[in-house]
Amino acid sequence: KIRTRIAPSPTGFLHLGTARTALFSWAYARHHGGQFVLRIEDTDVARSTQDSVEQIIQAMNWLGLSYDEGPIYQMQRLDRYQAVIDQLIAEGKAYRCYATPEELNEMREAQKARGEKTLYDRRWRPEPGKVLPTPPEGVKPVIRFANPIEGDVTWNDLVKGPITINNREIDDLIIARTDGVPTYNFAVVVDDWDMRISHVFRGDEHVNNTPWQINIFNALGAPLPQFGHLPIILGDDGLKLSKRRGAVSVMDYAANGYLPEAMLNYLARLGWSHGDDELFSAAQMVAWFDGSHLSRSPAQWDPAKLDWVNGHYVKTVDEGRLAALVVEQLAGKGLAVSAAQVQPKVGLFKDRCATVAALADWLSMYFAPVSPSAEDLATHVTEAVRPAIAHLAGKLSAVGDWNKGNIQQALKDTLAATGLKMPQLAVPVRVLVCGRAQTPSLDAVLEHFDQKKVLERLQAV
Ligand code: GLU
Repeated sequence: KIRTRIAPSPTGFLHLGTARTALFSWAYARHHGGQFVLRIEDTDVARSTQDSVEQIIQAMNWLGLSYDEGPIYQMQRLDRYQAVIDQLIAEGKAYRCYATPEELNEMREAQKARGEKTLYDRRWRPEPGKVLPTPPEGVKPVIRFANPIEGDVTWNDLVKGPITINNREIDDLIIARTDGVPTYNFAVVVDDWDMRISHVFRGDEHVNNTPWQINIFNALGAPLPQFGHLPIILGDDGLKLSKRRGAVSVMDYAANGYLPEAMLNYLARLGWSHGDDELFSAAQMVAWFDGSHLSRSPAQWDPAKLDWVNGHYVKTVDEGRLAALVVEQLAGKGLAVSAAQVQPKVGLFKDRCATVAALADWLSMYFAPVSPSAEDLATHVTEAVRPAIAHLAGKLSAVGDWNKGNIQQALKDTLAATGLKMPQLAVPVRVLVCGRAQTPSLDAVLEHFDQKKVLERLQAV
């Protein structure tokens, strides 16, 4: 049975990297008719918040990444972790360590001085024939896992291929802190075991944790899941994508007018490919996503490509839905309009918009005063052209049935009367009525206006 999970720490919004991992885990489970679990890794009590859990769930819902179980909270499973720890201690596979931070520091300094790797020296690990120090008064111990001393840890990573680490490279991991709260590497194993996770996808930054986790699985007699470590996502500057370098929250993209199908489509291509296919639906990805064609090389976050993908969906999704999203965007700018007002206008502009925000920006000319730039006014609305604009205003005010054909006729009449060419008239009209010098076909743009509003804006000069 294929079971995957996403295990975010609720210390903020849903990060793009986590969303990519969630997408791959979800698609893999769906491809195999398996299950996808949401687990909240909230053992960092100081930084975890319920607000963040809600933001993560909201973003998962927005993306359409439906989970079959969860959210399961680690902090509600403390008894279970404690029981496993007690069992490991009883079996001699874990032990209490009373070494103070100062002592450990001293140990590491000495190791460095000798040119050795800084590894815990197992001073509190019970071993045959070894006499342990007496536990100091008043010091609360941590619990350490008795890692195998010899041999190798090997796994065949779904992304990176075979990986082998010698146990001499890793030391006895702390699995519970002095307050009894388990550490990530331990809780994750108990959880993945209890939740019968078959495939673990996660970011590359966890690859060094996996040998410990495999040793703990083995100590528990638990079956090993398969691991796939997804490559890092780099920003345009070649550095790891981070908050300091632009938006990394999925819901920020929602707020900025990106569509969830575009985000999914774009995220899917960060570390995975299906031939030359660039534009595909979530359902199509699920059909294709069998765990092959996962890339080892770093993925590159490319805002221009995201805009291209998003633009494709802006062009192709249902216009009623687009209108509703434009209404939200305009509401964000303090403009209260209805979807019924917006929808007829969407088709005229959507082809030139990468985002719903850009579309709302275009449509705002219909609902709010425009403010042409001083430069556009000076360049295009010259003294010489004003009489023609006045002439056109006269013609347009005489139009009885306000439609494209009649508007076109009024424009032509003014051209005939003034001897101007269409651009010489159309550009100043655009600047005055639309607030910009370039728009789709002028008669079509004007048709969507209230006749009165067009006249007001033309007569303002
Ligand atoms: N809480 C960990 C993270 O967000 C989960 C890592 C894992 O999937 O094992 O990075």
